[in-house]
Amino acid sequence: MRHLLSIEDLDRADIERICDRAGAFEEVAEREVKKVPALRGRTVLNLFYEASTRTRSSFELAAKRLSADVVNFAASGSSVEKGESLKDTILTLGAHKPDAIVIRTPWAGAAELVSRWTPAAIVNAGDGKHEHPTQALLDVHTLRRRLGNLDGAKIWIVGDVLHSRVARSNILAFQKMGAEVTVAGPPTLIPRGIEALGCDVRYTLDDLPQADVVYALRMQHERMTDSFVPSLREYATWYQVNGRRLGPRQVLMHPGPVNRGVELSAEVVDSPQAVITAQVAAGVVVRMAVLYEVLAHANATAPHETDPSHPVPA
Ligand code: ASP
Repeated sequence: MRHLLSIEDLDRADIERICDRAGAFEEVAEREVKKVPALRGRTVLNLFYEASTRTRSSFELAAKRLSADVVNFAASGSSVEKGESLKDTILTLGAHKPDAIVIRTPWAGAAELVSRWTPAAIVNAGDGKHEHPTQALLDVHTLRRRLGNLDGAKIWIVGDVLHSRVARSNILAFQKMGAEVTVAGPPTLIPRGIEALGCDVRYTLDDLPQADVVYALRMQHERMTDSFVPSLREYATWYQVNGRRLGPRQVLMHPGPVNRGVELSAEVVDSPQAVITAQVAAGVVVRMAVLYEVLAHANATAPHETDPSHPVPA
């Protein structure tokens, strides 16, 4: 695999391979010295044009645990504020000879564009409303750990599907892994024609008890140009996942950041059904597996290739 641009480009075997490798890296996180030399001498550039807490910190940690050199670039405080274009920024930072560029932007398709401007491997860390493939991979990994496998699992994705790149990547990934996906939310926040992706659509949570997994989405205010719901309070009345709606055997997921009291009530965020912190922990090992895949594994001449199932401390 040369780049990771979208889940669309992956098949079930790719997803399983990445998650299996992530599983092998889990042991590294338990060591006193949490490092393997798999990417020693490689440079990873984190290029973030949008806010991020989990994704950015876990990509940085993932690269460091693989012993790569990491350069972090945030658009705020950079020459982007002086008007430098994405292309010029890539060409300029290309002088540092990064082996991989992890990129998040508010623009759909930007990661794919960047892959044409540089010889580096590109990892899409979220491109506007389009895709967030590493989120979907870490969610699959979390669910495999929890359920064993996803075949036949009923997964409901609830909330602001319209503005969510997570929804798009996760619908594709969950289905590729054999799950049955339903999306639910107010009609204004469900994209027209989404059934074409093979999922079911509901406009109420009446049948939510059927779900094995409830995946709640954040209201994406930053991508809303109009008002899509009368008020957040009204939204919460009809679509909030709370103690009344969540059953004890259901698994609750959320990509973060959570708006407590809007899409989730505080009681369910802190409930035993919630795997939200497990998702964050999975983020590091899955991103290690992705960086390994696009750098060490894909390149037979990689100088420091290591079998990740037997990682050696650096
Ligand atoms: N963190 C996820 C994203 O970047 C989800 C969210 O922001 O709601 O898309």
